[in-house]
Amino acid sequence: MNTEALATIETTETVGHFINGQMVADNGRTQDVFNPATGHAVRQVALAGKSTVEEAIAAAEAAYPAWRDTPPIKRARIMFRFKELLEQNADQVVALITEEHGKVLNDAHGEFMRGVENVEYACGAPELLKGEHSKNVGPAIDSWSEFQPLGVVAGITPFNFPAMVPMWMYPMALICGNTFVLKPSERDPSAPMFIATLLKQAGLPDGVFNVVNGDKEAVDTLLHDPRVQAVSFVGSTPIAEYIYSTGTANGKRVQALGGAKNHAIVMPDADMDNTVSALMGAAYGSCGERCMAISVAVAVGDDTADTLVDKLKHELTDLKVGNGCDNSNDMGPLITGPHRDKVRGYIDLGVEEGAELAVDGRGLKVDGHEDGFFLGGTLFDRVTPEMKIYNDEIFGPVLCVVRAHNMQEAMDLIDNHEYGNGTCIFTRDGEAARYFSDNIKVGMVGVNVPLPVPVAYHSFGGWKRSLFGDLFAYGPDAIRFYTRRKTITQRWPKGGVREKAQYTFPSNN
Ligand code: NAD
Repeated sequence: MNTEALATIETTETVGHFINGQMVADNGRTQDVFNPATGHAVRQVALAGKSTVEEAIAAAEAAYPAWRDTPPIKRARIMFRFKELLEQNADQVVALITEEHGKVLNDAHGEFMRGVENVEYACGAPELLKGEHSKNVGPAIDSWSEFQPLGVVAGITPFNFPAMVPMWMYPMALICGNTFVLKPSERDPSAPMFIATLLKQAGLPDGVFNVVNGDKEAVDTLLHDPRVQAVSFVGSTPIAEYIYSTGTANGKRVQALGGAKNHAIVMPDADMDNTVSALMGAAYGSCGERCMAISVAVAVGDDTADTLVDKLKHELTDLKVGNGCDNSNDMGPLITGPHRDKVRGYIDLGVEEGAELAVDGRGLKVDGHEDGFFLGGTLFDRVTPEMKIYNDEIFGPVLCVVRAHNMQEAMDLIDNHEYGNGTCIFTRDGEAARYFSDNIKVGMVGVNVPLPVPVAYHSFGGWKRSLFGDLFAYGPDAIRFYTRRKTITQRWPKGGVREKAQYTFPSNN
């Protein structure tokens, strides 16, 4: 147990920044950080101004030359030590996630472990960074491509996975030889801050990894500073589009992952009991605040829809909602009061739009947590594609059932939706499943797998307005995103032989 590092966080009334290996206080603007289960502020977070962010960029820039030249095996050893420290300190990280995000401890642990898997993958740095070599591309000419780091790169992350999403980014960026400035969500800043201290303990040189807390001002500084070479962003689609257009206009490489509205198709031949269990977890786990949450179930045929809705209604009566510190709960609160009110507003709207409210979560009270940001699991039936509750990402515990006549109609709905992050089909028919995964216009597809989040050695990303940029996050794509290819062609002519000038284009003719 790493009490020393934890104490740094616990005694900090205001979470500051981590710059050049030091915790840095900030006398500027601050914002409350809430425990969503109690509804009360637990601490404050500093909102960095331009000069603080510039200080972090300067630290990263100063650390870059030595880190760039550090052998990949040595970078990997730091990742190995970091992984061990993460495991030793898992309980503290998980507790901080639950305290500020609200998700149930076991769920926070799942997030944490998926983050650690990215560190494990990054431990393969020497193998991952191998170049490509070709001998005799011409007479006595050899050629190779190597993958060089970019320099200072930045990551901007959302509230819903405060530990995992940053770990989608910096382990890979660092092993490639870049230095990093992270701007985590200002709503749950403590877990990424604590983890920064573990990287230092693992032996990462000061300045290689920096954290600045803040809001738009911090983000805009990162987007406009010419020293920042690349930006990875994960968050909502309007902000992702802004990050992509502003960052690329300033000459940066940008990958910006945005929002989602993930559909699951339920075929008439699906194993209905297991489908219902899968949908309950995927729709209501983490209070629906996951970019891979299933928020639309498309039932093929009225009989399928009737059975599905009946079974979901029954399951929802048993859904246990309460403080995330109690692992017997299935679901915790939403992240903030305003977000809870927004989600509740969508339930009001669904009723106005004419959807059938099969289960209403609006009246939920959690004893002893009257000020918490809770909302019960909600189910709509007979939702149609014109409705706002169908089109918008609600990001709460609301599942919409849409009825389709056949599989093609269900697939057309998905293809016509603006988002294309994740999707899933529940069926026993291999031919249908294969047709679906082959043709659907979505980046991550599940067959009887409701949350098809790729493991760390694949890459994660959506299609359409769920991702702006060309490369997915983490995995093999991250090596390409965080490096620049350089191709070198080399010849050592025989000494003493004068060669004629060659005016034709060099070829092997
Ligand atoms: P958000 O877009 O509000 O915030 C994300 C980050 O952007 C934060 O660090 C925030 O400080 C910053 N930001 C917010 N407003 C900004 C502005 N006007 N200018 C510059 N920066 C700004 O997202 P959120 O509410 O924290 O997270 C939830 C969203 O993230 C959902 O839409 C969810 O689908 C999405 N998400 C997507 C993925 C994915 O992989 N595609 C993963 C997780 C979350």
